[in-house]
Amino acid sequence: MKTDNITYKCCICGGGPAGMMLGYILARAGINVIVLEKHKDFFRDFRGDTIHPSTIQLMYELGILEAFLKVPHQELPRLNGVYNGVSFALADFSHLPVIRKVVGLMPQWDFLNFIEQQAIRYPAFHIMKEAAVTELIWQGDRVCGIKAKTNNGLQEIYADLVVGTDGRSSTVRSLAKLKVVETGVPIDVLWFRLSHKQGDPDYTLGRFSNGKIMVTLFRDTYWQCAYVIPKGDFENIKSRGLESFKKEIVDVANFFSNRVGELNNWDDIKLLTVAIDHLEKWYCNGLLCIGDAAHAMSPVGGVGINLAIQDAVATANILYKPLAARQQVTQAMLKKVQDRRAFPTKVIQKAQAFLHKNIINRKPGSMASQKMPLFFKLLNAIPLLRRIPAYLVGMGVRPEHIKTPDALNAN
Ligand SMILES: Cc1cc2nc3c(=O)[nH]c(=O)nc-3n(C[C@H](O)[C@H](O)[C@H](O)COP(=O)(O)OP(=O)(O)OC[C@H]3O[C@@H](n4cnc5c(N)ncnc54)[C@H](O)[C@@H]3O)c2cc1C
Repeated sequence: MKTDNITYKCCICGGGPAGMMLGYILARAGINVIVLEKHKDFFRDFRGDTIHPSTIQLMYELGILEAFLKVPHQELPRLNGVYNGVSFALADFSHLPVIRKVVGLMPQWDFLNFIEQQAIRYPAFHIMKEAAVTELIWQGDRVCGIKAKTNNGLQEIYADLVVGTDGRSSTVRSLAKLKVVETGVPIDVLWFRLSHKQGDPDYTLGRFSNGKIMVTLFRDTYWQCAYVIPKGDFENIKSRGLESFKKEIVDVANFFSNRVGELNNWDDIKLLTVAIDHLEKWYCNGLLCIGDAAHAMSPVGGVGINLAIQDAVATANILYKPLAARQQVTQAMLKKVQDRRAFPTKVIQKAQAFLHKNIINRKPGSMASQKMPLFFKLLNAIPLLRRIPAYLVGMGVRPEHIKTPDALNAN
């Protein structure tokens, strides 16, 4: 590949869970890698907080579990919901075949900072923040680098392989003209925070009330709330007024009645549009997309982070040898990554579409919304069944394991 003064074996575009994990694992295997992240830090509010049992297992396999557990977090052995005031059990992680049978809850910026701290121990790891990838550099029909807008102007970076991990609005995948297949999604999410007060109920993931749904994430001093609305309905909600919206919140979570006043105006409430899609082909010559850049996930079930991380592990497992040897990474090698990861993605996206259709899309106040869905009733009644959502959420389909070496511990 072109020998410029900025040349890497792998250039990763986007420092989310997929990009940071891939950067870390490749650098750990001694591969000269750079991660480009358009923001100046990892502090982004619109992030999931879930650390899945399979991710905790990977921390163990990477030899960093002890350090990881020192980062403040919560651990949930079970997930519960509240349906029209009735508490019910959703998932039980206590039977999973992993070292720690819990879902962790950690603000994603803490998780990404931790991965960065681990990664910078390896001289092969490089990270450039405030670097937004804007163009691909081509040599004939092969991608051989990127151009990024940085504080020092437009930077050219050359690499044997470029990986797009820049999330669901991926610039990389559109620059590479990879074809996106959309799955219709009937929901969007309103994202806001309300303070935590002494005596609040225990952590609960999903709250369902007469067709309204809100997920409450406990973040130490406040509740991060994700209120599910029909797609495109935000303007209607706004036109009914803020007081009416606050009433809806209290209908779903009565304990918020003494603090909904903290929402002063609509600026305190952010609209997050939900998408599910996938790329027909995750790669082209010299370039691969993984994580949400290859398959945008709905927040339903809290599984997108797990899939993104599992993609990163599979990518490293499949590609580290050719990258280390500076053997050209062929499209056949990139296809192996897609072949391995497309199936788990498809299963999880189908499950999300099922939940959208059968549970989330119930009209508020309708007869259907009064009754607890059969699926929830069965989970609540039959403890053994709770192992199924626990496995899908906690492990995913086809969990990956670390097969790459650790350059610092090489004999
Ligand atoms: C409201 C909401 C809540 C969610 N909650 C959960 C949850 O609780 N649990 C869960 O598992 N999943 C959740 N998800 C899904 C989850 O967030 C994604 O599936 C996951 O973050 C995908 O990881 P990623 O690394 O592929 O992409 P991202 O996390 O989107 O990371 C992409 C990174 O690339 C950077 N970037 C973008 N463009 C560029 C560019 N041009 N140049 C350089 N950098 C760039 C971005 O700044 C970002 O840091 C949620 C999604 C939504 C919308």
